[in-house]
Amino acid sequence: MTQLRITGGRIYDPANSVDGDVRDICIDDGRIVADVPASAPRLDARGMVVMPGGVDMHCHVASGSVNVARRLLPEDHAQHPATAPALDDTGMIPRSGSAGTIPTTFTTGYRYAGLGYTTVFDAAVAPLLARAAHSQFDDTPIVDGGFFVLLGNDDYLMRQIDAGEHERAREYAAWLLGATSAYAIKAVNPGGIDLWKRGVRGRTELDQALGSSRVTPRAILETLADTAIGLGLPHPLHLHCNNLGLPGNAATTLATMAALDGRRAHITHLQFHSYGGPPDGGWRSGAREIIAYVNAHENLSGDVGQVMFGSAATITADAPVEYLLHRSSGRKWANVDIELETGCGVVPHEYKERNAVAALQWAVGLELFLLSSDPWRVVLSTDHPNGGSFMSYPALIRLLMDRTYRDEQIKRVAPKLLVGSALADGLTREYTLGEIAIITRAGPARLLGLRDKGHLGIGADADVTVYMPDADAERMFATPRFVVKGGVLVVEEGELRRAPAGRRFHVRPPFDTAATRHVERHFEQYSTVQFANYPVGDLRDAPLPVGAR
Ligand SMILES: [Zn+2]
Repeated sequence: MTQLRITGGRIYDPANSVDGDVRDICIDDGRIVADVPASAPRLDARGMVVMPGGVDMHCHVASGSVNVARRLLPEDHAQHPATAPALDDTGMIPRSGSAGTIPTTFTTGYRYAGLGYTTVFDAAVAPLLARAAHSQFDDTPIVDGGFFVLLGNDDYLMRQIDAGEHERAREYAAWLLGATSAYAIKAVNPGGIDLWKRGVRGRTELDQALGSSRVTPRAILETLADTAIGLGLPHPLHLHCNNLGLPGNAATTLATMAALDGRRAHITHLQFHSYGGPPDGGWRSGAREIIAYVNAHENLSGDVGQVMFGSAATITADAPVEYLLHRSSGRKWANVDIELETGCGVVPHEYKERNAVAALQWAVGLELFLLSSDPWRVVLSTDHPNGGSFMSYPALIRLLMDRTYRDEQIKRVAPKLLVGSALADGLTREYTLGEIAIITRAGPARLLGLRDKGHLGIGADADVTVYMPDADAERMFATPRFVVKGGVLVVEEGELRRAPAGRRFHVRPPFDTAATRHVERHFEQYSTVQFANYPVGDLRDAPLPVGAR
């Protein structure tokens, strides 16, 4: 079946200014088209809500650190077996697996598709582990995706900054993006992981010297933001700021956003970086200051990184954060330094309603959502599985859409730290279906620079999700009635029936080969890996074009 007409649904396609109009959506050969012949198969969507497939621009599903977390948490898997879905006869072997906070690869693909998500990006892959990340994506069916490659604590990059060789830094980033088949540049706690690996403990300041006074977190983020812009990447620098999760870190986040000085950048999981007051002044919300700054600066975008109550696994390249979390929670901990590139830490975590810090984190995320003035620039994430599983997105959507429900939940959480938060003052905003369509698909697609995702205009990828309206938004978004991925009906009457392979998004910016000879010498001197063995090689899918946008 290459053609399909979805008839009579209410369409929410904000990228094309369609907000609940009743019309047909036509599909031919995997793309949205203007019309199909009357004889084409039909899917009756009368009375239902039709949106583009969901786009998750920040989660952790395919990196080396995800596998470390899987190895650390066998009990989580044992408690959450996932049986193989009853797939139609499409030649695809259905796979069992396990779910819980870090599902296995096949289960990850099935469950995202079951929620109506069709595009998923892993936000942090160490270059050295890129090949393994691609292998994991190969085993994650249905969803299209890619990953961001970690560069914020990279030894070669920092040496070039020290030498004032900004051109060389840019050529290196271009080469590395292509060598790892990555999609964008990620910086996690720029400079802070390098300090951690040298044994430094404590906060990281923007102007802290990293060996040399020329190499500072500020210089790293300026270099990487300029590099992403200079290379014409579809997505700008994806930045996890310094001092994640620490009281008083809103000051660092504000200083970081100011340091970007008008450069385009995406600040990820804002919630974990929005704690107000002085560093030693205890916990309180700094959400108002952070979101006011983002609202006022169009060069910036963010995803929220909402905390949801329940079990989570914290997984990050930000190793020092995991050390602190392990010390404070007493839970088990894994740390893996990745030689010249980055770090990795994992600690399982439980966000409890009656825990004051967890309640504050939950409230801060909701404040950011409810005080954001531009849904196209502040989009939905839980930083899966750090703030909660992607499976909790429907519950989060209900919190945003249903004020009565939200107010009931506020009464259940520990009130101690909510004093002074805008949430405790009573925020009345309720997201509309159109706004939900922006923060879960149209917005992330636009921020990622994916022109054929997140909308239902002619020529778009035929990724469509059909929901049965329900006063309970959680129930509505948890169980789409139909999901079409690339023109294939993958969910029928709420059941996963087909699981085609997804495609990979990656870029390969041009670079000067003279610059890579310099990189090669660095490999010979310092790396355990041969330069020639480092690139992951060609993927089945061609790279996306880069250039001025
Ligand atoms: Zn993350």
